[in-house]
Formats: sequence, structure tokens, C-alpha cells
Amino acid sequence: MGYSSWGYFRQPTSYEIESSAEAYIKRQTKKGIILNPVYPKTNARTIAVSWWGISWCKNLERYLDFANRLDRGKKYVRAHAVMDFKEEDGKISALVSGSSPYEIEIRIDPLSKKRQGEIADHCLNRIQNVEDLLNGKFPEELKDVFFAKEGLFPAPKEIHFSCSCPDYASMCKHVAAVMYAIGIKLDDDPLIFFRLRGINPDTFIAEAIKDRVEQMLDNAKKASTRIIDSGDVEDLFGNL
Ligand SMILES: [Zn+2]
Repeated sequence: MGYSSWGYFRQPTSYEIESSAEAYIKRQTKKGIILNPVYPKTNARTIAVSWWGISWCKNLERYLDFANRLDRGKKYVRAHAVMDFKEEDGKISALVSGSSPYEIEIRIDPLSKKRQGEIADHCLNRIQNVEDLLNGKFPEELKDVFFAKEGLFPAPKEIHFSCSCPDYASMCKHVAAVMYAIGIKLDDDPLIFFRLRGINPDTFIAEAIKDRVEQMLDNAKKASTRIIDSGDVEDLFGNL
């Protein structure tokens, strides 16, 4: 199916969106261009599955300015229209299938240096379980770092986006689809917003690991009569 058959005024069906996206990805693959599509892992209304991914998708609905585009964005992301997704250098670049493949860019303002430091410290003080974080699980007690005023989730005025489609007025359905794709990517990588907001998560994770190792060494010293066997050493370093 060619893209031109959709016309400008008719809304494509989910089936048309999905077949066009699939065909485009296939053509690109043949040319040796590897895309990174984003597909929902659930048919649920939530789009995402983790509490932080779901929180982001819900958070979008609070942005009233965008509300009229969100349903179409959801339809697009469910129809596998997000054909490529990259997060680097503080921005997200994506390719979304429409009447032709459209290029979307989303930039989020970094937080002030002061706020970045506060959030990193707050996380460091409250990260009990480093393994969970490294395995992509984000502790629920840190929910406030996303939602607080000047938190990781941006206010509408801190989000800047563009799309190459002719319909690009305020937020088009392609941008809305990428907003939902962020929720899906967050499921696997809860640290995206740290990076987008200018916080290098490696710094506080490395600190948390260091603290934990020191604490375990302390405990080992206290148990002076115990000999550290290889099992303990594995406990210390095995899962880091
Ligand atoms: Zn668009």
C-alpha cells in the first residue's frame, strides 16, 4: 500500500497505519538501515506497564493543551506507528508513520544545576536497593522526584517539539504518539528523565554502590570472628 492513497483529510485506520509502518521498516532494513520501533507491551488503556511508565502516560493527560490530540496519539502508538526512537543529547528523535514517514523531535528543558543536585542527593539517600535500580526497577518511595514541582516530569512549557507533517499546529498526533512511546520506553529504562533533565544517573548509582560496599565491609569487620568466604565476596560484588 502506498502512503498517497490515504489522502490528507481521511483518517487512516489502525490497520493501514500498521501495514504502512511495517512495509517502511522492511524497506529500510533491506537498505541496511536499522530502526528502533516502539510497540506497547500491553493492550491495556495504560499503554505502559511499570508504575513510572503509567505515571508518565497519566501525566500527559494532565496537559490540557494536548488533550485533543492524545487519543489519536494513543491510536497511533497502538498501531505500531512509532517506527524509530532515539534518546540522546537531551532530546528524543523519532520517526512516525503517517501519510508519509514524519520526523519528530522532542526536547525537554534541563533542570537548574541546583535542582539537579537536590534530586541526585535525594535519590542517593533513599536508594535502598541498588540491584533493583540496575535491573530497571524504580522504588515507589521515589515517586515524588517525578511529580514534585521542578521534578523530573516537565511542565508543558518545558517541552518543545516539532514534526515534519503538514498538520503541525500545536501538538499533532505524531508528537502525541511519541509522547506515549516515551512511557513505553520508560518501562525498561526508568532513568530516561534523569538524562533528559541533565542529571547523570551514573553518578548517584555509583555513589549508592560505594556506600553499600562500605556498609558491607563494615558489617564484615564487626563480625570479626567470621571469616569472609567466597560466598560473602560474591554478595558484595556479584550483582553489582
Ligand atoms: Zn505530525
